[in-house]
Amino acid sequence: MRESLIHGRGLFSVGPIARDEIVAVKGGAIVDREELVALPDLRAAEIQVAEGLYITPTEPGDREGSMIFSNHSCDPNLGVLGQIVFVAMRDIASGEELTHDWAMTDDDEGAIDCRCGSARCRGRVTGQDWRRPELQERYRGYFSSYLARKMRTSAARAPQARAAAVAVRPARRDDRAFVLETARRLASFDLPAWRTPSEIVSGEVRTLDAFFRNPPPEASLLVAEADSAPLGFVFVETGRDYFHMREHAHIGILAVTGEAEGLGVGAALIRAAEEWGRKKGVTRITLNVFDGNRRARSLYERLGYFPETLRYTKGI
Ligand SMILES: [Zn+2]
Repeated sequence: MRESLIHGRGLFSVGPIARDEIVAVKGGAIVDREELVALPDLRAAEIQVAEGLYITPTEPGDREGSMIFSNHSCDPNLGVLGQIVFVAMRDIASGEELTHDWAMTDDDEGAIDCRCGSARCRGRVTGQDWRRPELQERYRGYFSSYLARKMRTSAARAPQARAAAVAVRPARRDDRAFVLETARRLASFDLPAWRTPSEIVSGEVRTLDAFFRNPPPEASLLVAEADSAPLGFVFVETGRDYFHMREHAHIGILAVTGEAEGLGVGAALIRAAEEWGRKKGVTRITLNVFDGNRRARSLYERLGYFPETLRYTKGI
């Protein structure tokens, strides 16, 4: 255990650990939600083990011995076997910080901003992240057993069912207000110091406004909706490769409403943009993303996008 780059003290390997090797076993007393809330200040020492049940130290003096000091990471190397046994999800080198994802153990209402620093960082970690299809896929076999069981029930499949009901169609004239309003969310991440939210938004609004006034033939604006309610949009156009001059599709703008986040709307829009490109006869699609927009980057990477060039900038 030593100072962590993520938060407070962290757990580190002192030698190589093989995949599936047991790394830590959580100890403590089993309490329900009411008892947990009534405990003295032992925050962050408990782990949920079942519907409404937690394993936790109950005396301040037991805290050190009961904590496993594994920090949360959105790209963890530990998973859960059963409810209290933590195992390596992959081979781990000596000196690596040992982390697990709270999505593997938690089912509650809370949410916090995440600063884990991994390329896959979700930006915001919630007690309902275990429902995210991509995490269910990535951590399969490493969720706390009570969550794994819930995933097999129909209730847990509901968000996917909702995402499956998302339809993508070309934008209509009366989508203009929705599209311009949703574009205002495009600056809601850690912007570089030399950029202001208003310039980001007005740049995007300029492109979208021009599209509604006079749609260019080599561009398309697609809107995702469910039950006739719009959930997001993508602006896709064609571009020419700088090096070999062949045409490709290019995602210019992608935005999803706050309510639709985590429902697979962004992925549905990207797939629709790819389909638009295929119909144009191109075999590649590109997009630009701000370096600090972790949430968007992790979505793109999950969908098979790779970084290519990096644009550097400097005030002179
Ligand atoms: Zn994170």
